[in-house]
Amino acid sequence: MEDKLIPPAIPNLPILKSEALEKYILETNVYPREAEPLKELRNATANHPLHFIGTSPDAGQLLALILNLLNAKKTIEIGVYTGYSLLLTALTIPHDGKILAMDPNRKTYEIGLPFIKKAGVKHKIDFLASPALPVLDELLQDPANEGSFDFAFVDADKNNYWNYHERLMKLVKVGGIIAYDNTLWGGTVAMAEEEVHEFKREFRKCAIAFNKAISEDSRIQLAFASVGDGISFCRRIL
Ligand code: SAM
Ligand code: CA
Repeated sequence: MEDKLIPPAIPNLPILKSEALEKYILETNVYPREAEPLKELRNATANHPLHFIGTSPDAGQLLALILNLLNAKKTIEIGVYTGYSLLLTALTIPHDGKILAMDPNRKTYEIGLPFIKKAGVKHKIDFLASPALPVLDELLQDPANEGSFDFAFVDADKNNYWNYHERLMKLVKVGGIIAYDNTLWGGTVAMAEEEVHEFKREFRKCAIAFNKAISEDSRIQLAFASVGDGISFCRRIL
């Protein structure tokens, strides 16, 4: 289903348009510190036709830092693919932490699953092979789930980001963080529509509308990180 979302021929370029600089950052700061199970999962994903949609290890480093700063224990993961950010989260949260992970594509999750098992963190993951919205709606049926999550990482269908936001703002506690990936959509948000490949236009529009909406949302503290394809960190303050 992801094939429909991001045509393989036109991956999102990282924000740094210099390959040499990207390589320098990865080789100097990131790869030497990347946990072995993450390296293994990344290598196992490298030959998959959509390998470029996996979270980049430099973005992963930042996510791990935030998870640690938050002392996150209970998290939500929307958009798993082969599970780089999922495994990263599972390796970062405590032994008794829990991640509710959702992706309609079980097959890609199963590519990363052996590495999750080998790393000894499978017990922290509840994977649901389902689109995320109905799961979030079901969670919200039970008031006990409100404000019960410390962190959420959203890296899925960009046209639903605002729908996720409305629900996650109830599920994540005050002080918790919701991180939205690809909010620059390959830099197309700052391009004229006619310059953008037609496959990318719909999500470009979604990203522009979403970025505007969160910038106007007084319920959150907002921080944008220029890493990977752009990550917007929303800390719930109300
Ligand atoms: N975070 C992942 C990683 O670190 O490798 C990458 C996720 S990938 C960019 C996007 C994923 O979102 C795909 O695996 C796709 O199947 C999933 N997806 C698409 N629509 C979805 C939906 N409605 N709910 C949950 N996941 C969805
Ligand atoms: Ca992404």
